[in-house]
Amino acid sequence: MSGVKKQPVIVLDGPAGAGKSSIGREAACRLGLPFLDTGAIYRAITFFMLRDGIAAAESPELAERLREFTVSFRNGTVFACGEDVTEAIRSPGIDKKVSSYSALPMVREFLLGIQRDAIAGGLVAEGRDMGTVVFPDADVKIFLTAAPETRARRRYDERIARGESVDYGEILEQVNRRDTLDRSRDVAPLKPALDAVVLDTTDLSFDEVLENVLEYAARL
Ligand code: C5P
Repeated sequence: MSGVKKQPVIVLDGPAGAGKSSIGREAACRLGLPFLDTGAIYRAITFFMLRDGIAAAESPELAERLREFTVSFRNGTVFACGEDVTEAIRSPGIDKKVSSYSALPMVREFLLGIQRDAIAGGLVAEGRDMGTVVFPDADVKIFLTAAPETRARRRYDERIARGESVDYGEILEQVNRRDTLDRSRDVAPLKPALDAVVLDTTDLSFDEVLENVLEYAARL
């Protein structure tokens, strides 16, 4: 025994509204590991591109804007290019466009380094391609999924709790549309890694899902 314990890398992938962020954040907290919300990074890029009028297509303008892009997380706040974008990146406008920007190889390539740089000291990371592309050697790979209606309901409840006025049908449509785009793109599509555990959370409570995730982590 070397006496030096390797810090674990635990990844959660899955479709929109599967509970990756809330479960990942709590699991990271319990395990004393940092949490990496990669969806927030794709959202932040989308926010800046839309604001600067840069289309979701590979172009010199997009490449230049990417080179200037920086992101950091502090106590639940997301800073992109030094600006607090925590609220702005959760808007319906970003929900609608994020999959178009995240499908671009130029964007994904650029973000690979940023994501991998976060690995020192172990982490819990959530996204769509954590287990397949970004951290293929992760110690624990979990693919969280749930029926589309359940996932849309969770998103709906979150937004209502935030005081927003939302339509369940629209959210369901949006969730399905985003998943179809994320699953069908050529680069790093949404899918479970071959060595991932698939956990269907449709009929599970938050605590039950968390317990499952912590149990897989404890087997390390
Ligand atoms: O998880 P969240 O809903 O915040 O992700 C927003 C979008 O970012 C996804 O729908 C997907 O298009 C993109 N994404 C991705 N790869 C990741 C994380 C998110 O393509 N690892």
